[in-house]
Amino acid sequence: MILAVDAHNLIWRAFHALKSVGCRRKLIVANVLSMIDTCLDVIDAEHGVVAFDSVCHARAEIFPGYKAANETRRAEEDPKLRDERLAATERLKDVIFPACGFQTILAKGFEADDILASIAKHNPDLECHCVIPEMGMKPAKRCEICHGSGVYRDRVTILSSDEDLWQCVREGEVSTIKIKDGGKFSQGMTEKLLEQEYGLTPRLWPMVLAAAGGHDGIPGVPGIGKKTAVAWVQGNASDRVNAKMMDHRMEFRKYLKLVKLPLEGTPKFNVHYTPINRGAMLELIRKYRNG
Ligand SMILES: [Zn+2]
Repeated sequence: MILAVDAHNLIWRAFHALKSVGCRRKLIVANVLSMIDTCLDVIDAEHGVVAFDSVCHARAEIFPGYKAANETRRAEEDPKLRDERLAATERLKDVIFPACGFQTILAKGFEADDILASIAKHNPDLECHCVIPEMGMKPAKRCEICHGSGVYRDRVTILSSDEDLWQCVREGEVSTIKIKDGGKFSQGMTEKLLEQEYGLTPRLWPMVLAAAGGHDGIPGVPGIGKKTAVAWVQGNASDRVNAKMMDHRMEFRKYLKLVKLPLEGTPKFNVHYTPINRGAMLELIRKYRNG
């Protein structure tokens, strides 16, 4: 299994938790690593990919209000705290994660969500362990992993609390896991759960996000909340709601472009399949926690 991590999601979490103690960069690093270590107790992933955000001009061009509030928040941030956070981010990306066997990915012009979605979408078929060509051994008919096909698809678990990523889930292949307050992890979303809770397929989920808006500066269609948006996508909305969606269809289409993952033009990323080194993780957590 591949654990695919949204780096900034965890870094912000650590940053806010540590603000009161001065938020030194080393503590942010230790805190982020320790969250991932706890996550690895819950799911058994052998490989890890960590995705980082880069500024996405393409989305701001589609809609200038996109993430505009983030810019304001950043400008108002205490510069000292911001420097500590940015230093921790760089350290994690360039040194710490690679030392722990995690592949780090930053793609100019694309967000972490695009990278994670691209990995989930293009997750390649791998040769099964039952195939040993050197020994002339073909796929085993009774193999529980590949069922005789010789290839299997590695599962991807996306670590992020971001509901945008729900559109990427695929039964038995891609799911999400979320961190709760208190540092515990719980099942995030799966294709089956999305169907049970909202009656929708992952492919339709972006329509809910676009209609309801409410995050990343996307206003959504006026007066449409998540519940109404779900009913509309299901085809169960009132005439009044249907009429309103019709009136605002141009904005809706624009918002849909913003929330659909991965963004058009996002490249494919090759997963390196290096093993996660939990020993190195524990050592670094200890080292960084003690300053
Ligand atoms: Zn097999």
